[in-house]
Amino acid sequence: MISTTDTAIIGAGPYGLSISAHLSDIGVPHQVLGEPMFAWRNFMPPGMLMRSEAFASDLYAPRAGYRLEDYSRRMHLPYAPIGMRLPLERFIEYGLWFQSQLVGHVRPVEVTELRRQDGCFRLSLSDGSCLIARRAVVALGLKGFEYMPAVLQGLPSPGVVHSGVFGSLSWARGKRIVIVGGGQSALGLAALFNELGAHVRVLIRGDTITWNKDPDVGRSLISRMLSPEGGLAQGWYPYVLSEFPYLFRAAGQRLRRRIAETSFGPSGAWWLRDRVVGKVELSMNTSVEHVSVHKSGVVLQVTGGDGPATVTGDHVVAATGFRVDVAKHAFLSPEIIQALSLVDGWPELSGHFESAVPGLYITGPAAAMSFGPALRFVYGAKYAAPCIARHIRLRHAAEGGSRAFQPQGAPQVLAEGGADAQLHPPPAFQGVKSPAE
Ligand SMILES: Cc1cc2nc3c(=O)[nH]c(=O)nc-3n(C[C@H](O)[C@H](O)[C@H](O)COP(=O)(O)OP(=O)(O)OC[C@H]3O[C@@H](n4cnc5c(N)ncnc54)[C@H](O)[C@@H]3O)c2cc1C
Repeated sequence: MISTTDTAIIGAGPYGLSISAHLSDIGVPHQVLGEPMFAWRNFMPPGMLMRSEAFASDLYAPRAGYRLEDYSRRMHLPYAPIGMRLPLERFIEYGLWFQSQLVGHVRPVEVTELRRQDGCFRLSLSDGSCLIARRAVVALGLKGFEYMPAVLQGLPSPGVVHSGVFGSLSWARGKRIVIVGGGQSALGLAALFNELGAHVRVLIRGDTITWNKDPDVGRSLISRMLSPEGGLAQGWYPYVLSEFPYLFRAAGQRLRRRIAETSFGPSGAWWLRDRVVGKVELSMNTSVEHVSVHKSGVVLQVTGGDGPATVTGDHVVAATGFRVDVAKHAFLSPEIIQALSLVDGWPELSGHFESAVPGLYITGPAAAMSFGPALRFVYGAKYAAPCIARHIRLRHAAEGGSRAFQPQGAPQVLAEGGADAQLHPPPAFQGVKSPAE
């Protein structure tokens, strides 16, 4: 079956859902592809607390009433913008509620191929169907970008696993877990594994752990002026990076790279310190030199302040972060990857998140080299969603709206949308007339 739409949004996480809410509001037909909040439901451990403050953990709607604060009030749940330990589960429920209110129909399919055809995009979907769209937005979060240092590469799972690929941790009870890394993922997992009854050792390359400062709740106006609260952290520098991603983009490529590489490096959230320090074994100044997997466990040869040592565990967790390389999205056709002209895996994006392939937008963490560190977090959707939606709306209107869209090979009856989200308007948009038509 072939259907058509104006815009295909690939990904139904905070970015995809926020963009859909904006497109619905301005009447651009679109489809959202992917499982709603999939990464949060499947690849993050239950019991995890969000690293971002509650006020920076919103999905973004074009109208008031859909922030995490609004959801919490409706559900009679406690809420504080700063200093609240926001559980993952609440964030997921909030994201699904946002979807039900503002997005409605999401097609829970994977895109298996995206290629250009006759000036449009042709998307092959995992349910065997095909979608033709004028535009596509790639909002896939960190999927496929897990980074393993060379010494940990190619080793069999579950002996060696990356921190970004598991949800429930119950399998670890009573096991010896060696975590490699010193950032939020490593420290957060160390706390959770330890509290589950695993024996945890964390191997950290640096000589110290950077802990984020305890939140300053109830600051005076002067204090807030001197050091404003940005979505990423407190202070003027993080504030500018959080609130004005277009300024980051205006900087030259070299400066952007330097900022991206040196800002917001590995650190642990303030609420983790008491759950980690003195509770799990932390080995500083440690470098992993060799790893081998045996029936009896995983053996790591490490060097450190005390000289070479052997560390043994049942499992090694590589909490070694993510590196964006858009070419790793296997569903992108070779022609599209070629046309993207990636620099070290990063796409160069216009001020509207449009890539070098006209009509193909890329957002979320993959846009962080163009728009700065805010895009690595949910907070970046505050800027990205309205920016992308506005640009698509202009293009949609300039092309004569949906009626002019008649791609070759698509059946006439489906030319107005097929399974378009617009045929299933979400509750908040029922009765809203499209200004674009
Ligand atoms: C352990 C961990 C903790 C984090 N904690 C925080 C935090 O506290 N605060 C914060 O702001 N950020 C946090 N982040 C970063 C955050 O995950 C990303 O910034 C955010 O997920 C980006 O959202 P997204 O909408 O781009 O993608 P995601 O939320 O990752 O959603 C990706 C979507 O793509 C879909 N998809 C994947 N492949 C396909 C395909 N082939 N076809 C169609 N759909 C597909 C999935 O079904 C899913 O719907 C954390 C990351 C990790 C790994």
